Amino acid sequence: MSTIQLHGKSFEIFLPEALLQEKISELAAQINTDYAGKKPLFIAVLNGSFMFASDLFKSITIEAEICFIKLASYKGTTSTGQVITAIGLDVDLTNRHVIVLEDIIDTGKTLHTFLPQLYNQQPESLKICVLLHKPDATLFEVPIDYCCFSIPNKFVLGYGLDYDGYGRNSKDIYKLAE
Ligand code: 5GP
Ligand code: MG
Repeated sequence: MSTIQLHGKSFEIFLPEALLQEKISELAAQINTDYAGKKPLFIAVLNGSFMFASDLFKSITIEAEICFIKLASYKGTTSTGQVITAIGLDVDLTNRHVIVLEDIIDTGKTLHTFLPQLYNQQPESLKICVLLHKPDATLFEVPIDYCCFSIPNKFVLGYGLDYDGYGRNSKDIYKLAE
């Protein structure tokens, strides 16, 4: 299907399955080389990254672990506003080589706010690996070490990414039609 309708909006095909899989395999090969002998720990951020994490991890051939977290935002009791905490981070990161897997970095706010909690645990190294990055949307700098696709500042869905809860189950990524 080259277009789909969801919640009254029209989405057109943007990144087809074959292209996604090709890039993810290339990225996995790079990580296999970079992390040989380092037993990295992947931390996949749910929900959006579940398909990306699954496909990437299947192509990781070195010794590696994976765990999954969700990030919860709260309105702080002070005027400083939002606090973001991890749900389910039950692994000790001390002296580990950590690779965070995210579906998409948009403004960068989520990871910018959350990453200090990971650094606090003093991992040996910490790198960020994303499927999609919207450089034109950046408001908060996040160091991105591995990225499959830099994309324009348009809303996308599919391959784990949702629009109001739906659309995650597409093998391709779609973008909002003009
Ligand atoms: P950030 O904090 O970088 O602005 O946004 C991160 C989160 O916003 C992503 O993990 C994702 O859940 C959501 N997001 C940002 N842009 C998009 C988009 O184009 N499509 C979808 N489905 N989610 C997005
Ligand atoms: Mg996400």
